[in-house]
Amino acid sequence: MTDIKSMTREELGAAFAAMGQPRFRAGQVFAWLHRGVRSFDEMTNLPKALREQLAGQYELTAPAVARKQVSAKDGTIKYLWRLGDGHCVESVLMRYHHGNTVCISSEVGCAMGCAFCASTKGGLVRRLRPSEMLDQVLFTGLDSGAPVSNIVLMGIGEPLDNYDNVRRFLALVNDPEGMNIGMRHISLSTCGLVPGIDRLAEEDLQLTLSVSLHAPDDALRSSLMPVNRRYPIDELLAACKRYFEKTGRRISFEYAMIDGRNDTPEMAQLLIRRLRGLPAHVNLIPLNRIEESPLQPSTRQAVAAFQKALDDAGITATVRRTLGSDIDASCGQLRKKYEQT
Ligand code: SAH
Repeated sequence: MTDIKSMTREELGAAFAAMGQPRFRAGQVFAWLHRGVRSFDEMTNLPKALREQLAGQYELTAPAVARKQVSAKDGTIKYLWRLGDGHCVESVLMRYHHGNTVCISSEVGCAMGCAFCASTKGGLVRRLRPSEMLDQVLFTGLDSGAPVSNIVLMGIGEPLDNYDNVRRFLALVNDPEGMNIGMRHISLSTCGLVPGIDRLAEEDLQLTLSVSLHAPDDALRSSLMPVNRRYPIDELLAACKRYFEKTGRRISFEYAMIDGRNDTPEMAQLLIRRLRGLPAHVNLIPLNRIEESPLQPSTRQAVAAFQKALDDAGITATVRRTLGSDIDASCGQLRKKYEQT
């Protein structure tokens, strides 16, 4: 059966025309889908016969809450969603003064193998469909009652490894008749898949591209992130430059600070040299601990010294506030599995 929520408004319009339905019906259905109904029967302004016809022809996704955890520290909420086929992914709702942000997953598991990240332990199971990404935004908003104003593709998975579905999700969530979330309110994070960055650049969207850099030195980066063997730092930064030239959007670099590894004054200087001439923003994230890895976060002093070095060199660097650490909802701590606790 066709996954109706993965269809664009245009596709839905064409399908309804082919069914001999008036055009406004497609518009009504699109609006219901993007309001998060769980069944065709909830589409109360449609004739019953049409609702039945749709239910016979189309699949309507609606994930179940397998687990919900609320941070006692900062109100961050982590959802574990059970998808139609039983697999699970996590999303995180973060509350900021400027609005609520949902961090969504793009894949069940991840193939990228970064040493410090829990999401990749166990490898990639499958890629998410556009509807399954949209559902995370819709149902996080509905369940929490918090209006969602921003989206970050920074949960489980590598978005550029699921390019077509992610691109379609972006079009859906951006649709003025749907959630109408502007591209400037969306960030997409990648571990550095160069062809994907180039493809995205060509589309010239106004979203924020975040690149998980984490090390300015190829030997170190390859030891932490296997993707670096395929796309080393020079190639990655050249792609970032092309991205900036095409879109005019400053790149955001994520840099997880690992004690004694990438947080030394020498590494700071190397990073400064690497980023010279590239309009960038560096996001320093003290490493979050995960049980499978012996890597430890940098000390507060090391983070401060690193930030100052970048600052002195004219590179904007901010230290990312850690939200939801008491519920394992921070960067790199999300998992695909439901573990009974
Ligand atoms: N696959 C994409 C999207 C994931 S975003 C990417 O790699 O960018 C999640 C971010 O958290 C990435 O920047 C990732 O490198 C970072 N991260 C992973 N594990 C972490 C950890 N233990 N501590 C801090 N950041 C981590």
